[in-house]
Parts: sequence; C-alpha cells; structure tokens
Amino acid sequence: MTRTNSVDRALRERAEAVIPGGMYGHQAVGLLPEDYPQFFSRGEGARLWDADGRELLDFMCAYGPNLFGYGNPEINAAYVRQMEIGDTLTGPTALMVELAEAFTGMVGHADWAMFCKNGTDATSMAMVTARAHTRKKTIVMAKGAYHGAAPWCTPRRVGITPEDKANQIFCDYNDVASLEAAVAAAGDDLAAIFAAPLKHDTFIDQVLPDPEYANRARALADESGALLVVDDVRAGLRIARDCSWSTVGVEPDLSTWGKCFANGHAISALLGNNKARNAAAHIFVTGSFWYQAAPMAAALTTLKLVRESDYLERIDVLGLRLRDGLAERASAAGFGLRQTGPVTMPLFLFDDDPDLRKGYCWSSAMLERGVYVHPFHNMFLCAAMTEADIDLALDAAEGAFKVLQGAAPTLAPIEKLAFLLA
Ligand SMILES: *Cc1c(COP(=O)(O)O)cnc(C)c1O
Repeated sequence: MTRTNSVDRALRERAEAVIPGGMYGHQAVGLLPEDYPQFFSRGEGARLWDADGRELLDFMCAYGPNLFGYGNPEINAAYVRQMEIGDTLTGPTALMVELAEAFTGMVGHADWAMFCKNGTDATSMAMVTARAHTRKKTIVMAKGAYHGAAPWCTPRRVGITPEDKANQIFCDYNDVASLEAAVAAAGDDLAAIFAAPLKHDTFIDQVLPDPEYANRARALADESGALLVVDDVRAGLRIARDCSWSTVGVEPDLSTWGKCFANGHAISALLGNNKARNAAAHIFVTGSFWYQAAPMAAALTTLKLVRESDYLERIDVLGLRLRDGLAERASAAGFGLRQTGPVTMPLFLFDDDPDLRKGYCWSSAMLERGVYVHPFHNMFLCAAMTEADIDLALDAAEGAFKVLQGAAPTLAPIEKLAFLLA
C-alpha cells in the first residue's frame, strides 16, 4: 500500500516560503524519517489524523501533553465553559486560587504554586527563584538533560553567547561522585541543583533515578543552603500523582510542571515549599497570557481525573503489555531492542545501530502500519489507549521487524541530528 501524502507535501512547500527552514524546534524538517507527516488535521483519544487524513495510533501524545486522550470531553467541556465566561482578562479568576490549592494538595513538597505557559517559563522561574533565595549564581545540572529552549538552557548554541550559559556546572546523571565534584566546584556560590526526574535524554537509553543520587542531591543542597529543583515538566503525572522523586523518597524545594497537567491546554507551573516562598514573592515574572482562566479550568478537571481515576495504574498495565510484547517480537525476529525508562514513557533503541538506520527503518514501517512511534525520543502512553491498541501496535511491530529483516536500511539524516548528538 502506498501512502498518499500530497496535502502534507504541498503544505511543506508553502511552509518553506513563509516559515524559516520550513519548520523549527523539535518539529524541524528532516529530524524524523522522510515519510513522517509534518502536518496533522485532527486528534481524538489516542489517535491522530495527519493532514492527508491518515489515521495513526499516536505514541508521542503531543510530546507529553496528551494524558487523558486528545479532545477529552470532560476536560474540554470545562475549558469551553470557561472560554465563554472569560479567559484572558485584566486579572485572574478564582480558578487560579482553586488550582493552586488543588495542585499543592497533591504534591507533597509543595506549599505554593505559580502558573505560566510553557515548561521553559517554569524552569527559568525556578532558576531565578533559586538565585533570589540564595543570592548566589551557580546552577549544577546533569549533562544532556533538557530543561527548555531559553538561551540559558537551549541545547543548540547558534545565537547563544557564553554569557547566556555562564554560572552553570555539569555533572553526570546518577553519578554521586560527579555530583559531589560539581557542587565542590561551585564553592560557596551554589544557587541550585537542577535534577531531571529520570535520565530522559534523546538518542540514549533512559535511566531511572538512583535513590542514592537523589538523596545525595538533597543533602548537598541542604548543606550549602541551595535549592533542589526537580524538572517534572515531561515526566510529571506519568510516574506518580506527586512529584516523580516521591518514588525515591526525595522532596525537592521547587518542582516544574507543564505538558500534561491540563491535558494539552497551555499552562505550566512552578511549585515550591515555604523555604523558597519569600524569594518567589519578590522576583518579577509574568506574561500577557499567564492568568488565562480557561486553561486553569482544564487543569482543575485534569487534576481531578488524576486524583479520582485509575489512569496511572491503567497506563502502567498497558505500558508493561507493550514492553513485554515488543521484547518477545524483537527477540523472535532476532533483533536486540532496548526498551528503557518507565513503561509509561518508553524509548526504543536497536542494538548495533550507531547511526539510527535500523530505528528509522523500523519506525517508518510502523508508520506504514498506522502506528506513530519516535526513533530517538522517549514516547508516552495516554489513558485513552486500550489493550486492543497495544495489540495493534504489537501486530504492527511484528510486521515492521519483518521489513527490517529484509531491508538494507538507508542512512538516517544524521547530519541534521548532529547538533542534538553534540
Ligand atoms: C518539554 C520540557 C521542558 C520545556 O517545556 P516547554 O513547554 O517546551 O517550554 C522543560 N523540561 C523538560 C524536562 C521538558 O521535557
């Protein structure tokens, strides 16, 4: 079956004229396999339709925001209702207070909340809060960890000055000695230790947090008076109904949230404890759209579903079914497939595939079978998925492994990926 993608092709051509490079950021042209659609028309539940009308079972979940299904009726009803009453106003509605109460009521370490729009807003606010609290400059973070796309944290150096990235020291994730060395190198200037909840970098296997590392980060922050920040923008609510490091028994001072807590509506958050409250009250952070009421209504409904439904247990079961089924099919087909990270946020990488050509070929064959997977970024499960969806993905995988057995996979567009690999 050959797939028609004429609408997508035509949109790409038009985009090239009016959008620099045809597309930017994590959707930049050429990062994904050639046959992947660039444009979509619709989403419902666990499914996406591309601009050519092709239905896809979507394991990217909008890179995280889709937790309860695209267009979840209950969440969207709350959003639409609030849109009709009032959204962007001269100030916030009562929903802001209700949402702060609901969120801090769920997250163990949190005594207060501030709301913004993107995850990058939240991580940048965390950095500023930590510097305001300590009156120190240095941030220790793990090499390769993504904290957003502002000049201080973007992974790409073009247009960024060394000054933008000043006062940062890097350590290796889960390596206690390296963390200790980074903190020692900060001397008496440590403002914060920024931690990813797990190692969820692109192109490499994901690694769960070592409790010893997490506890050491907590202790080092306490000894120096610095703040411990957990960046839960991506993993939040897919590992726990609390901050993800609650699973290793460590409470940060600040945590950052985004992506899924309003099920795709535009809102992010910085949560903090009382230690950081005064500093957070004195920094100047804001945005024209930060007080929007409709995303807050959507977030309140999403958090209610988080508290009151068994979504987390269900996506865990589905994720395990996918992991076990895929392991079986990969080994039956003779491939070493590494599946890493939490089962609700899987990443698949092939053994002996340094330039990703196997991964790209297999992902294309999955797409051809109606399943959207990513060749080098962690994926996401959502609560709209069913066992039948997982079985459909497993059938597709069996076919895709057969394609890979018969193919001489062409090279992935590695030159386009080089900046990410650097
Ligand atoms: C996506 C992400 C961010 C940035 O969030 P945006 O909404 O894209 O600005 C920050 N940290 C992590 C861990 C992320 O995955």
